[in-house]
Amino acid sequence: MSYYLDVILPLPLERYFSYKINAAEAEFIKPGMRVAVPFGKSKLYTGIAVEVRENISVAYEVKDIEFVIDEAPILDKDQIRFWEWIASYYLCSVGQVMKASLPKSLLLESETTIQAHDDASLDQSDLTDHEYLILEALEHRQALKVDDITLLLDRKTVLPILKKMLAKKLIILQEELNNTYKSKTERYIQLAPIYSDEEQLKELLDSMTRAHKQREVLMTLFMMSAGKKSVKSKELEKRAGVSRAVLKSLIDKEILEETEQEVSRMLMEAQAGNDLYELTLQQQEAYTGIKNAFVKDKVCLLHGVTSSGKTEIYVKLIEEYLAQGKQCLYLLPEIALTTQLIGRLQYYFKHRVLIYHSKYSLNERQEVWTHVLEAKEPYVIIGARSALLLPFVQLGLIIVDEEHETSFKQFDPAPRYHARDTAIILGKMKAAHILLGSATPSIESYYNTTVGKFELVELKKRYGNILMPEINVIDIKEKHRKKRMTGHFSDTLIEAMTQVFNDKEQVILFQNRRGYAPIMECNTCGHAPQCPNCDVSLTVHQHRAQMRCHYCGFHTFIPKECAACSGTALDTKGFGTEQIEAEFKEIFPNQKIARMDLDTTRGKYSYENLIEQVENREVDCLVGTQMLTKGLDFRHVSLVGVLNADAMLNFPDFRAHERCFQLLTQVAGRAGRTLKRGTVLLQSYNPHHMILQQVSTYDYKTMFKEQLEERYQFKYPPYQRLIRITFKHRDYTTTLNAGQWFVGALQQIEEGVEVLGPEFPPVSRVRNLYHVHVIVKLGKTHAPETIKGFISRVKKSFESIKQYRAVRCNIDVDCY
Ligand code: ADP
Ligand code: ZN
Repeated sequence: MSYYLDVILPLPLERYFSYKINAAEAEFIKPGMRVAVPFGKSKLYTGIAVEVRENISVAYEVKDIEFVIDEAPILDKDQIRFWEWIASYYLCSVGQVMKASLPKSLLLESETTIQAHDDASLDQSDLTDHEYLILEALEHRQALKVDDITLLLDRKTVLPILKKMLAKKLIILQEELNNTYKSKTERYIQLAPIYSDEEQLKELLDSMTRAHKQREVLMTLFMMSAGKKSVKSKELEKRAGVSRAVLKSLIDKEILEETEQEVSRMLMEAQAGNDLYELTLQQQEAYTGIKNAFVKDKVCLLHGVTSSGKTEIYVKLIEEYLAQGKQCLYLLPEIALTTQLIGRLQYYFKHRVLIYHSKYSLNERQEVWTHVLEAKEPYVIIGARSALLLPFVQLGLIIVDEEHETSFKQFDPAPRYHARDTAIILGKMKAAHILLGSATPSIESYYNTTVGKFELVELKKRYGNILMPEINVIDIKEKHRKKRMTGHFSDTLIEAMTQVFNDKEQVILFQNRRGYAPIMECNTCGHAPQCPNCDVSLTVHQHRAQMRCHYCGFHTFIPKECAACSGTALDTKGFGTEQIEAEFKEIFPNQKIARMDLDTTRGKYSYENLIEQVENREVDCLVGTQMLTKGLDFRHVSLVGVLNADAMLNFPDFRAHERCFQLLTQVAGRAGRTLKRGTVLLQSYNPHHMILQQVSTYDYKTMFKEQLEERYQFKYPPYQRLIRITFKHRDYTTTLNAGQWFVGALQQIEEGVEVLGPEFPPVSRVRNLYHVHVIVKLGKTHAPETIKGFISRVKKSFESIKQYRAVRCNIDVDCY
C-alpha cells in the first residue's frame, strides 16, 4: 500500500500538493500538523497536512516529504475549512490564507533568516552538537539562512533542530526592519547612590539654598520615594511643579539618576480592583436585546451613539462568556490606536487579555497563537483583522467594534478579506455569537437589520444622559466675504476656542490631511512639483523642511524657485494639520497644541505619549487627522472644530458621503463625553449640503435612506456585489492593453453582469507602476460562485499570455 499526504503550501497554488509518506508517517500525521516538504528545484517549505490518502493519481511526479515538524497539530480541521472558505470567497489560494494566518515563526522555510538570541552562549552546558555548531557559526556571522544551516550541518532536516532552538531561546528569527513594535517605556528617577549617605545629602541640600526649584525637586523626591527605590520622572515633575529642564539639570549634575523601564504589554501589572460598572437601565435593555438576538442565533448590530457605553456592554458580555469557559475575540480597526481601550480591558480581565498585533515580535505572536490553540484558560483576544485568523477553539463570542471602519478590509496582499464579513462566517462555523457595534453603522450592516438578516439593538442616549454635542455648521464662504477669517479659522471658531481655554478645558481640531499643504504651485507658470514615481503632487512638510509623496515616501527639499520657469513666487494650495498647528500658535500664543497624525505617531511610543499629554491636560488643543475619530475617550474636551468639512464630500467614490457622515459624527463624538454637553463647529463652503445637515441633526436614518436609494439607483452594494480586477505594470500601454484584453474575455460572462473599464484610477501611477481597474458588478440574482469561477478561469488564461506575463493581476472581491 502506498500512502500520500495532501499538503497546503504557503504559495499562490491552485490546489494542495501531494507527497509520498510511509506507513508509520501515515499513522502519525494528523491534519493541521506542519511538515517540511521540497518544492521547486531545491526549496524547502513548511506546509500544513490536510489529509492522508491511500491511492491517488496525479499528473506530476510525487516527491517524499522531508519530515514531520510537529508532534501535535497547530490548528484543527475546522481551521482548514475556514481557510478554504476565505480562499474560495475572496478568490485566492488556501496557501495565501495560510501564509497570512501563521506567525512567521511557525513558517520556517529555506529563506528564513535566524540570529543568535541575546542570552545564548556557547558555554551553556545543555547544547547539543548541532546547536553548538549553529551558535558558533552565528558568532562569526550576524545572521544565517535556513539554507546556510543545511549546508553547515550537511543534513537536510534542520528545521526540527531550529524549532527546538527557538523554544530554548537560543536563536531568534530575524524580523523585517522597522517592523518591530517597541514596548512602551517610562522614565524613572532616583537619587545618585552617594547621597544615600545622610551627611552627603545634608551638605548637598545646604549648598542649594539659592536653587529653589532644584531643592523643591529633591524634597518632593524624598516624600515620594518613601520605601521605593525610584519614582516616575513625570510624576516627580508634576508633584514638584517644575519643568523637565529642572530635572535635567539635576541629572546633568549627577545628583539624580534616570533610567528607562519597560512597561510590559502582554501582562501589564494588575492594577488594583476589577469591579465592573453597573449597567445603566438603557444599557441593561440593550444587553438583554443582544442576548435575545443570540438566542435566535442571529448576528446583532449594536447601534449606540458615541459615549453611550458600548464598551461597558462588551465588557459585561465578555465577562459572561469567559465565565462559561469560552474564548472571546474583540476585533478593532486599528489596534495601535486603542491604548485606552486595552487599558480598560486589562483592568477588568488582567492576564486573560491577549493582544495580537502584527507589530509585536514574532515570539509574542507565536505565544498568543499557542495560548489560543491550547485554550487552557478562557481568554479575550484583542486584535485588528488578522486576529480573526487565530486557531480558535471554544470560541463563544466575536465582537466587531467600529464595524463600519474600512480598515477591516485587507487591501494587499491576498487574501483580500473583510474581517467583519469573514467574522460572521467564522462565527457560524464555530457556533459563536457575533456582535457588531458602531455609532455610525455601515450601510451594508444596517441594511441587513432592515431585511431581518441581523437584529438591531439601539442605544440612543449618552451615558449619564449627557446631551449629544450641539453641532453648528459655519459658512466659511460667507466668513471669507466678510473678512472674518484668520488663516483657516473663522471668528466663530476662535471665539469658541477662547471661551474653552478660559474655562480650562480642551479643544480637538480635525483636518483630514497631514503635512503643511498638499500642493506647492508656481505663481508664474503654474508648475507644481510632482513625485517622480507616482502621479501625485508632493506635499509640503514645513516641519521637516521637505516635500513628500504620501504614496511612496519619496522626499526632497522644498524648492526656493520653480523647477520649470525659475520663478521665485511659490505658493501653497490647500492645507494640512501642520499648517493648522502653525496658525494656532499665532492665534493662541499662550496655549499648548499637540498634533496627532501619521507623522507624529511613527515614533516608539509617541501615540501613547500624545494620549497621556491630553489626559494629563498638558496640552490645550489636539489637532489631527482621522486618527482622532478612533474611539478616543477624553474627559475634558468640550469643543471639537472641523476646519473644512468639504474635502471628504468630493471624493469620487460611492461611499464618500457615508464615510463623511461617519468621520464627522465620530469626531464630533469626542466632545463633551463625561461632564457636560459639548459643542462642535463644522466649517464648510457648502453649509447646506445634505450630509452636513444630517450630521448636525444626528439623523442617521435619513442619511441611511438617502444613501440606500442612491446605491439602488446606481447599482452598488448592498444591492450588487463588486469585484475589482487590478492590473499593474511599468508601461502605460501594456497595462491598458492588459485591462482591455481582460474586458474582452469577460464578454462571455452571464447576462446582466456588468463589466466596467478598463479605467485608470485617480492616482494612476504609484511606485512607477501604472494601475488599471476593471470592475465586475453582479446582482443578487447571479450566483457569485459561477461568476467568480468564470473570472478565475479568465485570469488563468490571462496569465498564460506571454506579453502580459509581467503584468500583475489582482482580484478584489467586495472591493472598497
Ligand atoms: P462608547 O464606546 O459607546 O463610545 P464608552 O463605553 O467609551 O462609550 O463610554 C463612555 C464613557 O462613559 C466612558 O468613560 C465610560 O467609562 C463611561 N460609562 C459608560 N457606561 C458606564 C456605566 N454603566 N457606569 C459608569 N460609567 C460608564
Ligand atoms: Zn510617490
